[in-house]
Amino acid sequence: MTGKIYVVTGANKGIGYAIVRGLGQKLSGDIIYLAARNISLGEEALKKVKSELDGKLNSDIRFHQLDITDESSCKNFAEYIKKEHGGLDILINNAGFAFNMDATEPCDQQADVTIGINYYGTKLVTSILLPLIRSGGRIVNVCSKAGIMKDLYSDSWTQRFMNDVYTESDIDNFVETYKKLAKEDASGKGHKRKEGGFIESAYRVSKAAEIAYSVYLARILKDRKIIVNGCCPGFVDTDMSSHKGTLTIDQGADTPIYLATDPNVSNGGFYFERKIKEW
Ligand code: NDP
Repeated sequence: MTGKIYVVTGANKGIGYAIVRGLGQKLSGDIIYLAARNISLGEEALKKVKSELDGKLNSDIRFHQLDITDESSCKNFAEYIKKEHGGLDILINNAGFAFNMDATEPCDQQADVTIGINYYGTKLVTSILLPLIRSGGRIVNVCSKAGIMKDLYSDSWTQRFMNDVYTESDIDNFVETYKKLAKEDASGKGHKRKEGGFIESAYRVSKAAEIAYSVYLARILKDRKIIVNGCCPGFVDTDMSSHKGTLTIDQGADTPIYLATDPNVSNGGFYFERKIKEW
């Protein structure tokens, strides 16, 4: 019985659901929060996972509402966790969003929404829960290989993050510059994002920012003995990939679960298939 508190965001379906199910199979005596923004989808998923694990569950799985872009939802969840458990141990930031490849929304709208959820949402929920994460705890951010910066951005953007001194405002500046250039591109001013040293995809930029944020967090939380890593789950068969992914959700959940539970993981890495990858 370790009695740890795990939280998985965006867990009503896809990789997040498989992370909860995998933790449920693996852990003993812990409490796993299946967090989702939509109450009925979350409650349905809770029922489903409990019936799938019937007889094999040695931990407790619970549902709580959590929209990572809604400050009051995040604060409400934090207050609940504080009251119920005094703190938490493992936060798995899985919730994420991508427009379909054939989406017709203009690129500035796509930038606002995608970066708003994947980067600013991840930051919001993390900053609100962070005071509650106990020493020895972990944060796992489900990013993507799509966020690897190497060779895809101008040297000046890439070099901004390949050091041990960049700050959160450097990452904010990276995404805000991209958003400004996307607005110019949307109003027909040419190829400002490309000229500004960016790749065009808002999803890729949001995930690059999420990786940079993971590495930054690892650095600033070292003294509190909280381990932070980012990872890519691989190309997974989910709604997000329009079910074109070649991996099952359980395969996609493998590296996030490894980073959440293995005693030997390092700190501040970007992982793919349980190994550190250059980004
Ligand atoms: P899905 O679209 O299947 O699931 C995404 C989950 O995130 C859903 O539960 C969704 O909730 C939730 N979500 C979205 N916005 C919010 C929000 N504001 N607050 C709380 N929850 C939210 O995607 P996947 O399972 O494929 O993706 C999971 C993670 O893995 C994402 O971060 C994604 O970027 C990453 N990833 C996925 C890959 C893949 O091949 N599938 C590849 C690389 C990375 P709702 O149901 O309410 O919309």
